[in-house]
Amino acid sequence: MEPILIIKSADFLGSAVKAAQYPGHELPELAFAGRSNVGKSSLINCLLQRKKLVRISRTPGRTQTINFFDINHAFCFVDLPGYGFARVPEATRASWRPMVEAYLTTRKQLRGVVQIIDLRHPPTAHDVSLWNWLKNRGIPAVAVLTKADKVKHGQWPEHARQAALVLGLSVDDCVLFSALTREGRDILWERLARLLDLGVSAPASP
Ligand code: GDP
Repeated sequence: MEPILIIKSADFLGSAVKAAQYPGHELPELAFAGRSNVGKSSLINCLLQRKKLVRISRTPGRTQTINFFDINHAFCFVDLPGYGFARVPEATRASWRPMVEAYLTTRKQLRGVVQIIDLRHPPTAHDVSLWNWLKNRGIPAVAVLTKADKVKHGQWPEHARQAALVLGLSVDDCVLFSALTREGRDILWERLARLLDLGVSAPASP
């Protein structure tokens, strides 16, 4: 077995709304995308074993910046603004697409995107649209079905099958996840380590 990845440091680097504000490093980056309130902040905090590194939102749709986090001074997590929340102002909603597309199409060190979807419901039109856009661009993407703890275990296969079908994946390609129980954390880390080409396996669970 390869050495285990340990999270030694996780630091907020800054926010950006345009390319000039992206950090100047050349570290490989992984971006996280999902509908507002889907559980993206919770998932990132769970991966990093940090309770409050990424703020868990009380006002869905409020954060409209791209946020960069340095991990172990070896790679970078990029928290993309959430999409698809009905109650955000139209101007905010309209700015999402160019801001996010600019990052996804121009950032040279982007290694892949983690797209987070709610296991409880079929992927939304927004989810599918982003997923297909990533696929058409050839950007590697991992589909994570989160809030698994809110679905009865016996119903997981059916929910996962439906999501996989809509996304054009096999069920085994989807990662079932729960920030509450940490279900899927190690499997997701394995996938991320592969995208980052770290040559290590998942971090040790405490
Ligand atoms: P974001 O807007 O996508 O960053 O979503 P948050 O991480 O802020 O989560 C939105 C809400 O869902 C919060 O109340 C979280 O506590 C809750 N939540 C997030 N992930 C999970 C999960 O895996 N299980 C459960 N039961 N609740 C979750």
